[in-house]
Amino acid sequence: MEYLPTIGLEIHAELATASKMFCSCKNDPDEECSNTNVCPICLGHPGTLPVLNREAIGKVLSIGVAVNGTPADFTEWDRKQYFYPDIPKGYQISQYAYPLVSGGALAGVELERIHLEEDTAQSTHGQDVKGRTSGGDVSLIDFNRSGVPLMELVTKPVIHDAATAVQFAKELQLLLRYLGAGEANMEKGEMRVEANVSVAAGGVSTANLGTKTEVKNLNSFRAVERAIEYEIDRQIKLLEKGEKVVQETRGWDDRKGVTFSQRSKESAHDYRYFPEPDIPKMMISEIPEFSHESLSKNLPELPWDLRDRSKRDYGATDKEAEMFVEDRMLADYFEEIVKAGKGFKVDDKKFVRLALNYLLTDYLGALKKKNSVAVSGACQSVAGDNDSAAKFSQQIPPKHWAELIGMIINGELSSRGAKDTLAEMIEKSTESPRKIAETRGLLQQNDAEALEKTVRTVLDANKSVVEEFKAGKKASLQYLIGQVMKETRGSANPAAIPAVIEKLIYGGLTPI
Ligand SMILES: [Zn+2]
Repeated sequence: MEYLPTIGLEIHAELATASKMFCSCKNDPDEECSNTNVCPICLGHPGTLPVLNREAIGKVLSIGVAVNGTPADFTEWDRKQYFYPDIPKGYQISQYAYPLVSGGALAGVELERIHLEEDTAQSTHGQDVKGRTSGGDVSLIDFNRSGVPLMELVTKPVIHDAATAVQFAKELQLLLRYLGAGEANMEKGEMRVEANVSVAAGGVSTANLGTKTEVKNLNSFRAVERAIEYEIDRQIKLLEKGEKVVQETRGWDDRKGVTFSQRSKESAHDYRYFPEPDIPKMMISEIPEFSHESLSKNLPELPWDLRDRSKRDYGATDKEAEMFVEDRMLADYFEEIVKAGKGFKVDDKKFVRLALNYLLTDYLGALKKKNSVAVSGACQSVAGDNDSAAKFSQQIPPKHWAELIGMIINGELSSRGAKDTLAEMIEKSTESPRKIAETRGLLQQNDAEALEKTVRTVLDANKSVVEEFKAGKKASLQYLIGQVMKETRGSANPAAIPAVIEKLIYGGLTPI
């Protein structure tokens, strides 16, 4: 029997706003001290009134425009009722019938909707994500997270394998960072992925989806991938045995690598959604800063645009483009180098290719080895860091890069010499590559007269080899080139030697 797995994702992401969703408490996911950023509103005291966070709404609408979704014309908030110690009001303020954004697509996956709600407080049973323990049978609740703006994005059930689901989640993380909407660090719980997984017997020809389960507690991309694969496999095995898949919520045990039953799945009517009476309904289209035009005008370059541009304008490979997309600072730094290179009047394509190679392979490789500059740190804070290029250029100014690459193109540096020069440039960021190459004797001998003199000496000393070469033995030429390189201690440009040898042998100038 063939089976078609189908996956839909529900992704929650905390938004990086200055204050919480409905009060003016600080929104600080890194606050170490429990129950510090709290007030009667986010503690859920009766009789308090929520006030909307404009910044949070703007961020969700921007995300919507970036994914080509349709921002709502009209929106309202709803109460989603349920009892839980971390939601003391007895309900969560969310959006039900009128999400802020409908439709759109990201990484080839169609979206259902994006809405905004408030995060719950954080319960600690045993140990929380920050390693704090509750000690024994006690559960602790930290209200710092209570009321933090939380975006929920729901995809259509159009994904059919775990790798695509992970790809989607990674792209969303990049988008949130590029927009400055959130860090979306999964390990910190800033982005939480839930996967609805079902398997339909009958393969691709089937029209109906199977019974779905919802898998929660996925705290890393790796967990998303493993849990979905496990769940697909588990459901197929049940169906093979003639058993039924139960619709339920399942947890993921990362250590054991299994999903496990948590509770039967609630339906929407269990929550008794109804419009939140304390928050005014909104006509989004009547707020100028939330107009489609204004939102799209303020979008920065998006990850997929940078990816395409890197390939189109610079001929970057898929892998190189991905390095830039994942580290915006690095991309900015590279573009500074290309800009600095314009003055050299070198062949642009060649310049750009060499810059890509030396920056992404040699330079990053050396830095990694040196382990001094925070390359990985740079990778983590993609967005919102405008002096990114400046950070890299503290290491090597772009104009020094341009000079180095110019010297390679002009044949003044061999690739070995260039690598050695670069290694020293990393150590002495203020020194120019020319000065370094001169001091260390790395400059290739391009002085025609000096080279001719050396070749003449070599030819005189190897008369029998010269005869063999004249008789057509190809290896003799290589031998002679080797001798010249040896004589010049590697400073000659090997590409320039054959012409000089031939000139001296056949050009009537040879003493032979
Ligand atoms: Zn508060």
